[in-house]
Amino acid sequence: MNILVIDDSKLMRKMVGAIIAAEGNTPHAASGAERALKILDKITIDLIFMDVEMPKMNGFELTRLIREKKQSWIPIIFLTASTDDTHLTEGIESGGDDYMMKPINSVVVAAKIKAMARIVNMKKELDTANRRLLQLSNVDALTGIMNRRGFNESLKRDWKNHTREQKEISMVFLDIDNFKAFNDNYGHQRGDECLKQFSSVINSQLKRPMDTLARYGGEEFVILLPNTALDGAALIGVNIIDALAREKIPHQFSPVAPYLTASMGITSSRFSAENETILIQQADQAVYKAKMQGRNRYSVYEPKLQEEGIGKLINLSAI
Ligand SMILES: [Mg+2]
Repeated sequence: MNILVIDDSKLMRKMVGAIIAAEGNTPHAASGAERALKILDKITIDLIFMDVEMPKMNGFELTRLIREKKQSWIPIIFLTASTDDTHLTEGIESGGDDYMMKPINSVVVAAKIKAMARIVNMKKELDTANRRLLQLSNVDALTGIMNRRGFNESLKRDWKNHTREQKEISMVFLDIDNFKAFNDNYGHQRGDECLKQFSSVINSQLKRPMDTLARYGGEEFVILLPNTALDGAALIGVNIIDALAREKIPHQFSPVAPYLTASMGITSSRFSAENETILIQQADQAVYKAKMQGRNRYSVYEPKLQEEGIGKLINLSAI
């Protein structure tokens, strides 16, 4: 394990460091908050011994700061000269995991390292298992709707049904308008909240269990509508525009509207896509057109645009 000793006393850093090394671990040392935070940025630390009484920032304050900054949990054991019980409470409340009185005893320190190593290893196994589960899962962790992986599976299955049953299948591809400006101005945390709210608004517009809504990536979403004709998909497009106008998620940095809007591209199997990948490409092209036309709207894929280059004469958007 990489173990960090934070103590303003050089003697303490040396003593605890020697015990850490004797136990077969790698000691790192910092005399205060500034140095400690630098080390934590560079090295993956598994355990921290933290002096409570330090000039500038004390151990409790530094612990709170580390807990705020660091996403993954690192066990922190306080070292203190104080014998006051309320001190112990404050330490645990600031985010510490254990508490040792000075002067320290090498046998006790060694035992605590062993005990913490067990917890650290369990935590690592748990983290690995969680990551694997999330990868295997078809759910987008942020919004709770299907992710791209799940969507690709649904698309394959529904496309297969479509080719067998010869029923029209439609797709609506959505791209949130000016989402970069949202993130840049409101921050990523509100950006995440906004994605959640957006996906729930879209979800509320889908009434059939066979319909699939997925987060395709970033601020892109996609809806798959089996057994649905193009005009049915267009109706959903209209409903989404209305629903977003009612929801009015504030976006004062959008040139389109003072609230969050989306550009949508709609296509269906009637344009004789050879496979499901082509269907996505068609929908994507239609999104591009919706953006070119001013955003906050849907646009329907126009095959003639590709083939003859006279697409401007044809307006399918009125469907
Ligand atoms: Mg001290």
